[in-house]
Amino acid sequence: MKSRRRPYSEQRPTDAGGGVWSVPVPIPGSPLGYTLVYAIESPAGPVLVDAGWNHPEAWLALRDGLSSIGMDVREVRGVVVTHYHPDHAGLAGRVREESGAWIAMHEADIAMVKLLRGFDAGGHREFRADMLRRAGAARVEVEEVSAHQPRPPALPDRTLHDGDLIDLPGRRLRTVWTPGHTPGHICLHLEDAGRIFTGDHVLPAITPHIAVYPYDRADVDPLSDFLESLEKVAALGDLEALPAHEWVFQDTAARATEIHTHHEEKLVRLAALLAEAGEPLTIWETAARMTWNRSWEELSAMLRGMAAGEAAAHLRTLEVRGVIRRTPEVDPVRFALHS
Ligand SMILES: [Zn+2]
Repeated sequence: MKSRRRPYSEQRPTDAGGGVWSVPVPIPGSPLGYTLVYAIESPAGPVLVDAGWNHPEAWLALRDGLSSIGMDVREVRGVVVTHYHPDHAGLAGRVREESGAWIAMHEADIAMVKLLRGFDAGGHREFRADMLRRAGAARVEVEEVSAHQPRPPALPDRTLHDGDLIDLPGRRLRTVWTPGHTPGHICLHLEDAGRIFTGDHVLPAITPHIAVYPYDRADVDPLSDFLESLEKVAALGDLEALPAHEWVFQDTAARATEIHTHHEEKLVRLAALLAEAGEPLTIWETAARMTWNRSWEELSAMLRGMAAGEAAAHLRTLEVRGVIRRTPEVDPVRFALHS
């Protein structure tokens, strides 16, 4: 962890220059601390990039943060959401209620919102328990699964596609579809200023969660999507990054390349781990043998679940590349090196 990380209590709304302000909005109870909501001024009212977590404290931080920079939340013209996760999309609905703003999101993440809104708590718990069992988790770990899930975000009223210009009078803000962290994650390229809002796609010190859910899915490959999306953003050249967490930084392309390398190295280590094992491993066994920022024993049930999702995404990419194969007709599914 680099030393530039500062807690939420030390964050303030900041003039980022060129008609862009950043407003830190807290994520209660999360080590991530806060989401940076960006407000871009326009003659027709500010447009927000992301909105923050749906929590009373977060709402006050957003409303008062905007007012401290001379913006009224009731005058917000629109909210562009980089992806459907609750720390980004959570408050978009509240902003729309107050201001009549539009909410825009990529079509693939709108599909995720619709899916989440269709789940009840029981259905969600069952989905997770079944997924853990099929990955080879121990019975006690399957039983520990909680039904808790954050309230799904509001349904957007504008659908974005790759290359679309955002309705922001006087500026050129273009949608860059960057699937990986979520299927419909987008970055927003402020073409008239050489800057890019990177959401969670490219962050200065940490990397976003890349996972497959349910773990044993064989019809998607989000890590390959993510790596391709990193190349896509790197190809845009030397842009200043305005990320949704941590801090603003220069040279998005260099950081995107660094994150790409990080995952390629992780893939090499994972293939070596499977070679060493000498027998096919379940997703759960694989996750338990990989290196995380804490030992497997110290990870909470939730963090183990996320680690298994990451393991599954890396296994899936190695499978697509023909390095490993899944053993057919066994439950739980197992992976081994191609012999
Ligand atoms: Zn996210």
